[in-house]
Order: sequence, then C-alpha cells, then structure tokens
Amino acid sequence: MRKPLIAANWKMNKLVEDSTAYGEELIERLKAEDVDLKKVDVAVCVPFIHMAALKVIFLLRGIGVGAQNMHSADSGAYTGEISPAMLEDMGIEYVIIGHSERRMYFAETDAACAEKLKAAHSHKIRPILCVGESLEQREAGEHFDTVRKQLAGCFEGIGGKEAAGTVIAYEPVWAIGTGRTATSGQANEMASFIRSVMADLYDAEAAEQIVILYGGSVKKSNIAELMNMSDIDGALVGGASLDAGEFAQIVNFDPDVVGKTPKVQ
Ligand code: PEP
Repeated sequence: MRKPLIAANWKMNKLVEDSTAYGEELIERLKAEDVDLKKVDVAVCVPFIHMAALKVIFLLRGIGVGAQNMHSADSGAYTGEISPAMLEDMGIEYVIIGHSERRMYFAETDAACAEKLKAAHSHKIRPILCVGESLEQREAGEHFDTVRKQLAGCFEGIGGKEAAGTVIAYEPVWAIGTGRTATSGQANEMASFIRSVMADLYDAEAAEQIVILYGGSVKKSNIAELMNMSDIDGALVGGASLDAGEFAQIVNFDPDVVGKTPKVQ
C-alpha cells in the first residue's frame, strides 16, 4: 500500500515571520480538518532561510520540512550552495530535485538530477524528482518520449532500492502556475506510464512501491478527483500551498482516507 504524500512548494516566497505564522496555522488547520498524519505524509518545501523556524514548529508534529534544491557534493568551493550533509544535519526530510523552474532557469540537467538523487538517498533525505513535458512537446505528441528520457537520465546509476524510495512528481510544464490543470485522465495516464517505465528500468515490485505525485495548478477544488485515480498517490502543490488553510484542505483530500474520526454511516 502506497501512503499518500501531499507536498507544498512555496518556491521563492514568504519572509521568516510569515513562515512562523504559516507553520502554526497549518498545525491548527490540520487539526480542524481532523487529518490523521499517520495516514498521509505531509511535506512543506521551503527556501533555506525558513527551514530552522519550521523545524522547530513542526517538531514531533508529523509534518516534514523539505528543500527545493541542493548541491550533490557534501562540502566544497561551491559559493552560494547548500549541501545534502547540511540538510541531513538539520533534520530535513525531503528535497525537490529537477523542478522544471530549475531546469528552465538554472540549466539543471538529467545528469545533475541523477547526482542529486544519489546524494539525497545517501543522506536519507527523501527526494521528490520532478519530470514533465512542455506544451510544445505535448502538442507534438512527444510527452511520453520526453518523460521516458528524463526518467532514464535521472535514474542513471541509481540502485533499485533507492529508485523504489524516490517520489516522482509528474508536473507538465504547461500546467505549472498557469491555472491550467491536466485532466485527471491525462495525469493518471502519465502516472501509469511512469510506473511502466520504472518497471522496465527496474522491476514491477519497485515500480509498484514508487509514490507518484501530480503537480500543476492543484487546488482544493480539483484534488479529490486527482486522488481518486489509480496511479496518483499525492500532489506537489505550488501556488495553493501558500495559504495554510487551503493547503490543509488539500491534505484532507478525502476524510474517509485521511480522517481521524471514522465517518458514521
Ligand atoms: C509547483 O511549483 O511544483 C507547482 C505545481 O506549482 P502550481 O501548483 O502553482 O502550479
């Protein structure tokens, strides 16, 4: 059984005082939503400056803190970078790797993602690897090939156990921050395809264990339908995660699945 994961991606937003208020509000809102954090994994992936505050607020609360990027080396002359050893030292549980904005604006390649994936696993940080096609690639019918190539490149040199423990987020670039969501059918079709590629690269058992997220304009109004699909195990949420109340409602995508109190029939 794959445990659902709902992850927030704040991108480059909020100041330190906002992050403290957000953390406290998220705890309250999840309580008010009656969410059982044993039934759903929750991660909040934030800019590095917010991590210390959130780690304190979320201590023993069952909410993970994640980075949005990291270097693959443990230390060295890489001015401005943050290493996996530093994240592990801080108790950071998740790291987003290969987000399309990093691929687009910071020229992050599949080979660089493979190095970061290896580093994340060796530091026991759960990686959320992003893959997904551009609008041009979808319109040209190249979306499956694009994602297959990304997966082959990003998992180069990664062992089966590590692959099974990697979260893969399918994020079609045309749906990120645009308000345009892939239909649940399109999202699930690609999630199933990703599982089949992982079965080819590794084996069916590993592929079955991989948690696959959908990301791209997820909000409280569309999460239930997406989570109802066979191969979608969670969501990576950008814009809508900036509001703790809305994010808590997204985490509570189905009270029967993540609720503490069983629904009385
Ligand atoms: C993202 O940043 O990963 C994302 C999916 O953004 P949004 O939800 O705003 O489309």
